[in-house]
Amino acid sequence: MPFAGKKLYDALVVGGGIAGIESALNLANNDLNVLLVEKDLTLGGKMIMLSKVFPTLDCSACITTPKISEAARHPNITILTNTQIQHIDKQDKNYFKARIKEKARYVDISNCTGCQLCEEACPVVVPDQYQYNMVGRKAAYIPFSIASPRVASIDIDNCTLCGACEKVCPTGCIDFTQQDKEYDIIAKSVIMATGFNLFDPLKVPRFSYGKAKNVITALQMERLLAPTRPFNHVLRPGDGKMPCNIAYVLCTGSRDLSVGNPICSQICCMYSIKQAQLLMGALPMADVTLYYINIRSFGKGFEEFYEQAKGMGVNFVKGKVGKITEIENGDLLLRYEDINQGKVFEKKHDLVVLSVGVLANDEPQKLIQGWKKDEYSFAFQKDLFYTPSLSSIEGVFLAGTTSGPMDIPDSILSAGSAAMEAIRYVKQTSVDF
Ligand SMILES: Cc1cc2nc3c(=O)[nH]c(=O)nc-3n(C[C@H](O)[C@H](O)[C@H](O)COP(=O)(O)OP(=O)(O)OC[C@H]3O[C@@H](n4cnc5c(N)ncnc54)[C@H](O)[C@@H]3O)c2cc1C
Ligand code: SF4
Ligand code: SF4
Repeated sequence: MPFAGKKLYDALVVGGGIAGIESALNLANNDLNVLLVEKDLTLGGKMIMLSKVFPTLDCSACITTPKISEAARHPNITILTNTQIQHIDKQDKNYFKARIKEKARYVDISNCTGCQLCEEACPVVVPDQYQYNMVGRKAAYIPFSIASPRVASIDIDNCTLCGACEKVCPTGCIDFTQQDKEYDIIAKSVIMATGFNLFDPLKVPRFSYGKAKNVITALQMERLLAPTRPFNHVLRPGDGKMPCNIAYVLCTGSRDLSVGNPICSQICCMYSIKQAQLLMGALPMADVTLYYINIRSFGKGFEEFYEQAKGMGVNFVKGKVGKITEIENGDLLLRYEDINQGKVFEKKHDLVVLSVGVLANDEPQKLIQGWKKDEYSFAFQKDLFYTPSLSSIEGVFLAGTTSGPMDIPDSILSAGSAAMEAIRYVKQTSVDF
């Protein structure tokens, strides 16, 4: 009996970003029984970290959180966060066996009320990964105010075991004896929605990221602009000053063979234009300049959005930035080639945002045998034009940025396609649980 004692699902969805959540909802609304596994402490992926979305400027959290709560309440969806999949093995009769590792949070989440008293009591402060290290967090912490589930977790690597959190917790749910749990589950199909990685700007030392404090990434700027932002204003991380002359360096780590990534990330032009518009609202006296190679505003409403930014006074300079140097007061000197004028110039800015590109998350190939990737390490798509959500393995489907760079609307479309393919496949399989 291969299924004896195992939890059985119609579909295993790996990754709880917008694509994974959307796939899970589509499957569950068609009466499939879904296990959604997220390795992070919270669902939402990159989208839940964003401020507003191009080209509509809708609040990102306002789109994500209703979908997350619908998934969390859905009777056909089981959600596991802080959980890693060790491996997925295809078994002979069209089903998959997956080894699940639920990592200890040292908090019984069924009893945690999210009151944050543990956070207040904890004396340990470490950089907050959810605010991209711009502020600190405690060793006992809730990732951020709209995290799902909104419960505490103990960062055991930094915890001193002082016990202060345990003493104040009103429900007694902190449990230092908790251990990782490992077990197998069975699923008829798998949707890979493991998303993308961002280019690491430390790989371009001439841009001074990591050395000059006022050179940040676009995701850090998303946090500075988001409703769940670390400060109440857009401030330079170096000295807390309000910036008044901000530069964007587009294509950082994209379309650049010198860093081994020739492809266009598809989203950076538009998210930079979006942030420029938001900054014009947040800092009305500030100048914002985008240094670009080409502006690729190819989607619905994108060209109009670009024109709108120009109309608002955002400066666009067609030029490649060669070097960023920190000068006095933490300001930055940008050396760039203005392609239209055919000359090299230098310009001073007080904050530089690197519009970092999209890279493949190559985790799926470690999870499952037979996984094929394309030449840029994204998932290989068996039939790009007719059925883009088919992977190299029968019964494994692709949702969102697992198969390449894409924005949120395209990730949602792709998730719908993956779910429909999975439903068709599950209905045809010969396995009966
Ligand atoms: C700075 C910035 C601004 C942006 N602004 C916009 C915008 O305004 N409009 C727009 O349309 N798009 C925007 N985007 C793009 C948007 O973020 C993506 O389109 C979207 O996040 C893709 O969703 P996804 O679910 O495919 O991937 P992700 O958001 O990357 O989610 C993947 C999830 O899978 C999890 N995961 C990964 N590996 C595993 C594993 N092995 N096991 C379990 N879980 C795993 C991850 O932890 C993550 O939660 C922006 C992107 C950036 C970087
Ligand atoms: S036991 Fe650990 S998490 Fe709890 S208060 Fe002390 S340092 Fe913080
Ligand atoms: S662990 Fe206890 S103190 Fe911390 S948020 Fe949960 S209920 Fe509150």
